[in-house]
Amino acid sequence: MKSKAIMSALCFAAAATLAAAVPAHAEWVNRVTDGIMGTRITVELWSEERAKAEAAIDAVLDEMRHIDESMSTYKPTSEVSLVNAKAADGPMHISKELFDLLVKAKEYSVITAGAFDITYASVGYMYNFPKHIRPDEAQIAKALPAVDYRHVILDASNQTVRFSQKGVRIDLGGIAKGYSVDCGIKVLKARGFTRAYVSAGGDSRIIGDRFGKPWMVGIRDPRKGEGEVIASIPLVDAAISTSGDYERFFDEGGVRYHHIIDPHTGHSASKVRSATVIGPYATRTDGLSKTAFVLGPEKAMEIYNAIDDIDAIIVKLDGTVIYSKGMQRGKATPPPPK
Ligand code: ADP
Ligand code: MG
Repeated sequence: MKSKAIMSALCFAAAATLAAAVPAHAEWVNRVTDGIMGTRITVELWSEERAKAEAAIDAVLDEMRHIDESMSTYKPTSEVSLVNAKAADGPMHISKELFDLLVKAKEYSVITAGAFDITYASVGYMYNFPKHIRPDEAQIAKALPAVDYRHVILDASNQTVRFSQKGVRIDLGGIAKGYSVDCGIKVLKARGFTRAYVSAGGDSRIIGDRFGKPWMVGIRDPRKGEGEVIASIPLVDAAISTSGDYERFFDEGGVRYHHIIDPHTGHSASKVRSATVIGPYATRTDGLSKTAFVLGPEKAMEIYNAIDDIDAIIVKLDGTVIYSKGMQRGKATPPPPK
């Protein structure tokens, strides 16, 4: 009897503490939406008012729809499609948003020794993975000279873009999802949310923690189903992007053709099975996660290790997993001397 009373007193004390810490209706609210940018969008946030949470998620999705409208090459009226149609004819004035993202894209081309290159699309547009269509060698050879990020000439004072030759096409598929995640997080921060998760396909970003605990983000095993992970990474205030050869592909004659293209050859870049990059924001982690496919695990890891705010996990072709320096146990804090 006595112990029961103590128990209920304890429960009451615990409930009172909890009530003092969080308002009555505070809760995690989440929504999963398919179809924007051809991928799955997930938003989860901690909110003290359900209606405010739902309105904020609506605003995040609106922002992503806007990015899709302006940057998708599947939409003939998008700003990027207009650039592809006209920028070889002369300088073309573009929106500040697109201009700034093109500047970022070029920056990632430089950092990754040309592995990330939005002009991959000059060849890439001839692939259709769901339909198992790929260009033949002659088509690739003809289009390949147009693949080079240096063909995209940006003029900041006039906010214009120009292609230095005919045949150049750009596609922001390798950076737009990460960018849209960052825009989503910006929308949530502006509305005062301090604990949230936004993801678009393989690109995610987190603000805050889960009340003293990190968010756990799983990295999928490239050769197993969606629920199977090779590692779960604890994250607080960070972004994470995974690129995999299992996303959009077809196998033919023992070769896997998939959606990351080596800008130097015009063929699928198949030097790893997957690469995950962790960093401060998702535009950056998205822009860097394709590098290992093109350059191979060792060269890519050299690049990742040389960048201060980045960590990486690469699944090699033989299935072994390698980690950047910052993630190796004992490297960050050396063990005490014996
Ligand atoms: P997801 O689209 O699921 O986020 P990734 O981040 O791995 O996947 O990006 C793959 C996309 O990147 C491709 O569908 C294509 O649009 C684009 N892409 C392919 N090759 C390159 C490349 N060498 N440089 C830049 N973008 C690329
Ligand atoms: Mg991505």
